[in-house]
Amino acid sequence: MSKIQDLVFKEEEYKYNQPFHITNSVSTASRLITVKLHLKQGIVGLGQASLSFRVNGEVYQPLWHYREAMLNKIHGLDVRNYRRAFREIDGFSRTAPSLKAAVQYAVLDALSQDCGLPVFQLLGGARDYVETDMTIGIDSRENTVNRAREAFEQGFEVLKLKVGEDLNTDIERVLAVAEATPGAEYIIDANLGYTPKQALRFTDSMYQHDVEIALFEQPVSVHDFAGLRLVRQHCPYPVGADESVKSKYDAWRLIEEECVDFINIKLMKSGISDALAIVEQARSADIGLMIGCMGEAGIGINQSVQFAAGTGAFSYHDLDSAFLLQDADPVGYRVEGNRLYPGY
Ligand code: MN
Repeated sequence: MSKIQDLVFKEEEYKYNQPFHITNSVSTASRLITVKLHLKQGIVGLGQASLSFRVNGEVYQPLWHYREAMLNKIHGLDVRNYRRAFREIDGFSRTAPSLKAAVQYAVLDALSQDCGLPVFQLLGGARDYVETDMTIGIDSRENTVNRAREAFEQGFEVLKLKVGEDLNTDIERVLAVAEATPGAEYIIDANLGYTPKQALRFTDSMYQHDVEIALFEQPVSVHDFAGLRLVRQHCPYPVGADESVKSKYDAWRLIEEECVDFINIKLMKSGISDALAIVEQARSADIGLMIGCMGEAGIGINQSVQFAAGTGAFSYHDLDSAFLLQDADPVGYRVEGNRLYPGY
């Protein structure tokens, strides 16, 4: 009845409203693979992959070749036994993590339709909605301040500011934003851009100017766990990992070695299965969690909205990519200001 029959991949591309600039990377468009998982009785589960070469090492064209291999692994499985399908797709964790996320989510989406229960309730139904931040890329001081002020006035109380290419201008920009948006909360993301000493110069400067930083994300390079620990131990703000955590094994090591106050889970890095494992690791170790995104449009953001509302595991939600893309309408969730409500 609820057996997996077919898997279809569809190419989609969305342009950014303005070029999205982070440390050593400028994106003008987001290329996605939307996944349709067909069950025998006509139900179609939806998922979406936003690949990342920078973070996952994924390249667009080769990903298409995984369709057949993935279908072979899960064909005939019953989505009501979704852990069996997850387990098969876990084999693609290293080679195609974003597709792993999309296909695992499509399995849940198909099950959701099959049993008449929204995905966020299948996952626990912890919250009715989540509140997203708004991300402001690297830009001139004037543009950064204008965008920050605009987002804050629109009701985005948490502003995520990208830094990491030039320490002195980063400090000036963030101080200017703090002055222009009193009452806002700030997440600072360096995307691997600083050395540990530069990261500490940045946080010292914020502290001297009484700027509260809610989270300082991935200040140093991806494999520099010692550097991350050093920054964590010597700065007054919570320090966390994004690029350094892809699998549950990365999370385990970072927690065990006391490198992080929080972890940024992204379904596109970990899929649903490892994301669920990292949630439980973080809960066990009293580590904070945020959830982030790559360049997902509506279908892709819905995956994280359902996951975050269902598990209720996250202190901060950085699920704004569909706002930054042209014509990326919500699918399966509803937007009210900075609130994202999971729908059916
Ligand atoms: Mn990040």
